[in-house]
Amino acid sequence: MYPAVAAVENSMDGGTVTTWMALTNSAIRAERDHLVQLDSAIGDGDHGINMARGFDAVVRALASEDGAPPGTLLTLAGKTLVSTVGGASGPLWGSALRRAGRALGEAPSFDGPQLVLALEAAIAGVVDLGAAQLGDKTMVDALAPAIGALRDGLQAGQSLAVALRGATLAAEDGRRATVPMQARKGRASYLGERSVGHQDPGATSVAIIVRALEQAIVRQSHG
Ligand code: ADP
Ligand code: MG
Repeated sequence: MYPAVAAVENSMDGGTVTTWMALTNSAIRAERDHLVQLDSAIGDGDHGINMARGFDAVVRALASEDGAPPGTLLTLAGKTLVSTVGGASGPLWGSALRRAGRALGEAPSFDGPQLVLALEAAIAGVVDLGAAQLGDKTMVDALAPAIGALRDGLQAGQSLAVALRGATLAAEDGRRATVPMQARKGRASYLGERSVGHQDPGATSVAIIVRALEQAIVRQSHG
């Protein structure tokens, strides 16, 4: 096994979570106006603002938690999102990250299979709260395929880096696949057929967040 691969399999800890949240924050900021545009077409136009405000607060909350276990940091990130974001995405992502944090518990580090379990707990939190199914044109349409790709890649023997690449691409395919869908959950569902032909903002931010996860894990293994 190559040393870089060994490192990527073993090095995930609280720092990985902090880096993930920092990369998410900067990528969401860079895409904020685009997310606002998407949400203006089929919602109320606040998605980019909601997400930017939320992850900004997450980064500030985590700044004083150096050395805390990854599960504790994810739980804090989730609570911070719930308390700072008014729109649907606050409670949904808040629940996701809290469930992921609970799944990791207080262990000082985690590996690929534990990451899959944490992400499966996260999406279960989203579905428990929002009751969206695949095809309803929500964040679930990007998140579910991303987690599936990560899990399947690892089970097929891919390195974590390769499986994460697959997860990012699956999230991006998933967000593109929301364009022809008719929304059946959330504000966009009020538009009925007029929601068809627009990309779902929540699925778009999922793809950003999954890409940030890939970068956080791969970046850490090189530094
Ligand atoms: P709001 O709709 O309250 O303005 P946001 O604009 O921040 O909140 O988030 C909108 C996104 O939330 C949608 O694009 C969709 O992906 C996601 N969403 C809305 N309702 C649900 C739900 N019930 N389940 C899963 N995701 C949902
Ligand atoms: Mg909105």
